[in-house]
Amino acid sequence: MRHLIMFSGGIKSTTLLKYVIREGEAIALYFEHGFVHEQVAAHQLADHLGVEFIVETLTGSPSKVQGWPLFKTTWMLFHALTLASQFGCQQVCYGICSRPWCRENTRPYLDTLRLLVQKAQGELPTIEIEAPLILLHTTDVVQLGNRLEVPWIETRSCEHNEILHCGRCIHCRRRAVAFSLTETFDPTVYVQSPWKEDTSDDDEFSED
Ligand SMILES: [Zn+2]
Repeated sequence: MRHLIMFSGGIKSTTLLKYVIREGEAIALYFEHGFVHEQVAAHQLADHLGVEFIVETLTGSPSKVQGWPLFKTTWMLFHALTLASQFGCQQVCYGICSRPWCRENTRPYLDTLRLLVQKAQGELPTIEIEAPLILLHTTDVVQLGNRLEVPWIETRSCEHNEILHCGRCIHCRRRAVAFSLTETFDPTVYVQSPWKEDTSDDDEFSED
């Protein structure tokens, strides 16, 4: 089977990519959103893993909106479905994890989308969507990634467009916590320690 993986070069999508390429061919799809360092790192990582890397630039799209607006994941997913048909892929995979408070990241929502995608293709659907990590938490993903020998040092999680991880944003902090809770060596170079309590970018922080 040929898979199209929605790939950012982060912990989840890289683990997903390693998981998928054990049994099939994959193309890594990166949605360009102006983060040059992230894009370069993702491209290098895909090369390292021997996977074709394609970039979709979506000027003025929801991918340009700051934060994570409603339906952003769904919107990107449906765009990936169109590309999958062009690249001869039978499956679109994305690396969402369990976040019950975010309906786009729940199993019932995924099942509804899968049904919709099936119906849109008629009697003999050729493309399906899959989210193999959807029942996992980030710590579970790190443990899976350890087993798959994901090169963590090449992955990126920071929400800022800088060369190094900032250590302040919620993504850097979740990354550090996930490595810590799984007793995984964190090779990340942070500009500021993610364990410094009082200077976070975020008012609320929780490990997911
Ligand atoms: Zn950061």
